[in-house]
Amino acid sequence: MAEQTPEQVLEDIGAEVRRCSACRLCEKRTKAVPGEGALKSGIMLIGEGPGFNEDQQGRPFVGPAGKLLEEMLAAVGLHREQVFITNVVKCRPPGNRDPQPDEIAACNEYLDRQLAAIDPRIVITLGRFSLARFFSGAKISAVHGEPKFADGRAYVPFYHPAAGLRSPAIKQMLFEDIQKLPAIAKRLKELQAQGHFDRQEADSADAAPDTEEANTDQLSLF
Ligand code: SF4
Repeated sequence: MAEQTPEQVLEDIGAEVRRCSACRLCEKRTKAVPGEGALKSGIMLIGEGPGFNEDQQGRPFVGPAGKLLEEMLAAVGLHREQVFITNVVKCRPPGNRDPQPDEIAACNEYLDRQLAAIDPRIVITLGRFSLARFFSGAKISAVHGEPKFADGRAYVPFYHPAAGLRSPAIKQMLFEDIQKLPAIAKRLKELQAQGHFDRQEADSADAAPDTEEANTDQLSLF
């Protein structure tokens, strides 16, 4: 049998998510929200979980937070169709409560498979549950906008856009952080060329991207 394309794998994952009952979040969902977008830009954004609008439509980030996310992407010349957007849990926690550890654990497999199929160059975490998945023990106030280079990727923690709707200061930080993407993409390419991605390299001052210089580059690096 011919090997599935990443698009086919994602379609299969989406179908599985829509009929999934692996945790209690299936009980009150209207629609599951597997995620959507393109693979081409090599950028994957991972939020926390669907909210009211997302649950109604079965699509990620379609409410006010999604509008802000689209504005952020536009600031670096990207449209939401050019990136892949998903969440840590694919079904809405009732009343927008935090997802519970067992719910996150139950849903992890889908995110793992999406990551494997998309194999993004840049993973942007949106909010603390997504942060915890890739930056164990980190505080968003300390690490936002600071990339971690590992696995041949750049993992970049952002505040959740919903927090930006509540706080003008966080909104400003979100726009400042997304402006770092061209520099981060440039640094990633340099690390790839050098053939190493270990944490020591990523954490060193030498690995800090030169934002001004790299902002002249386009995000069509992938
Ligand atoms: S949140 Fe994830 S694990 Fe739970 S029912 Fe939905 S798709 Fe399944």
